[in-house]
Amino acid sequence: MKILVLLKQTFDTEEEIVLVNNALNESGVKYVINPYDEYALEQAVLLKEQQGAEVTVVTAGPVRAEEALRTAIAVGADRAVLIDDESLAGDEYTISKVLVAFAKQESYDLILAGHMSVDDGAAQIGPRVAEELGLPHISTITSLVIDGQTARAEKDVEGDLETIEVTLPVLLTAQQGLNEPRYPTLPGIMKAKKKPIERVTAADLGIDTAAIASKTAILNQYLPEKKTAGRILTGELAEQAAELVDVLRNEVKVV
Ligand SMILES: Cc1cc2nc3c(=O)[nH]c(=O)nc-3n(C[C@H](O)[C@H](O)[C@H](O)COP(=O)(O)OP(=O)(O)OC[C@H]3O[C@@H](n4cnc5c(N)ncnc54)[C@H](O)[C@@H]3O)c2cc1C
Repeated sequence: MKILVLLKQTFDTEEEIVLVNNALNESGVKYVINPYDEYALEQAVLLKEQQGAEVTVVTAGPVRAEEALRTAIAVGADRAVLIDDESLAGDEYTISKVLVAFAKQESYDLILAGHMSVDDGAAQIGPRVAEELGLPHISTITSLVIDGQTARAEKDVEGDLETIEVTLPVLLTAQQGLNEPRYPTLPGIMKAKKKPIERVTAADLGIDTAAIASKTAILNQYLPEKKTAGRILTGELAEQAAELVDVLRNEVKVV
């Protein structure tokens, strides 16, 4: 079985977010594998261990994303591919076209992705890639069994559990709870250091960059306003009620 894992490097959500000139200040920020992609990667490695599979991890991103790919190799991926062409930077429309162009050059039975990234958080890439490749797609899976050419996945639906069966090839997006991602071992880290990362450009993928230019633009980014402390009304109930009405009428002006 051949498995492709779509992986994005994101900043660590524990990091303090600082915006400079309407963009994230990357200075000193720690980057990690997008947490939902860790579930996707772990599932691919589990399938490799249980049934035998070749696991290829691909990311479209800047050079720093190589670190995430090395971590993926350290936990069990066989191949890692970095699509690091600056001309390919873009929105979910662009990146899904890039990943589709890559997938078309590969053979696969299964594509695994996170259901969303924790930074941009569009949750678009999985469904877009599946649609363009003409694959069935099951989102936010919490369990997976592959039996021959059949994939059986479970997902939470408003508190209920839905079981879906589909014939391979299929694209699945991972939700928290799918598995328990492992940490890389020291031998794994040493092995990953020596493993070459494959580099791919727009030209390698036969992509006309103008044709896949972003459809959206971020106009503004800002952090939520700092919350001020709440106000506690004191005194007799009638006094509190009178004060509340006064606040609503004269300060907040909603009544
Ligand atoms: C040269 C270059 C530079 C880039 N620089 C940045 C940057 O500085 N900051 C940044 O946030 N993004 C960067 N990107 C990536 C790109 O902007 C986003 O990945 C894309 O817009 C997806 O948006 P999203 O995170 O909302 O995806 P979502 O739809 O929320 O992601 C869902 C899932 O799709 C998969 N996925 C998402 N993005 C990628 C990807 N790039 N490669 C492989 N799988 C993916 C993952 O499995 C993820 O869990 C860069 C891309 C390139 C080619």
